[in-house]
Amino acid sequence: MDLKKYIADIPDFPEPGVIFRDVTPLLANKDAYQESIRLISEFAKDKKVDVIVGPEARGFLFGCPVALALHCGFVPVRKPGKLPREVISQSYDLEYGSNEIQMHSDSIQAGQNVLVVDDLLATGGTVEAAITLIEKMGGNVVGTAFLIELEALKGRELLKDYDVFSVLKY
Ligand code: IMP
Repeated sequence: MDLKKYIADIPDFPEPGVIFRDVTPLLANKDAYQESIRLISEFAKDKKVDVIVGPEARGFLFGCPVALALHCGFVPVRKPGKLPREVISQSYDLEYGSNEIQMHSDSIQAGQNVLVVDDLLATGGTVEAAITLIEKMGGNVVGTAFLIELEALKGRELLKDYDVFSVLKY
């Protein structure tokens, strides 16, 4: 199945010179969405995953169905101020400025096998920051999986110590 057919390429969004890869047509197609989840689950099926970690918001759209397919838990990574209990935070650099992500500080148990799932790997900064938090809690990151990888941004190099899987490469 040609899943790239279901990714819309939006030039100059959110700023000039950037091609935004829009996954919403794939989500809207029952076969394309199911096939994406099947391929990510297939990658992870022998990794003894205890819990999937997914960054808001599109990481939920891919992480949660994979968690159901693998019969494991799901833990959200959120922007500051969204989680109601004690959190741990990590900031990471963007081209201009920085971002911060948070997880509940008791969301990963020491020794749990964790798979990080997001819609798209660009520089890898988001997932690297999530990995820092997971490892602070004693989690064991067994892999990272994405629907889309933007190869020119070299996220795979940033995540070189981890098993990186992507369904579609651009
Ligand atoms: P990174 O931290 O540079 O790897 O950026 C990845 C994050 O930015 C992911 O959470 C994506 O949802 C988001 N992102 C960056 N570029 C795109 C895009 O072209 N389409 C959809 N999401 C994007």
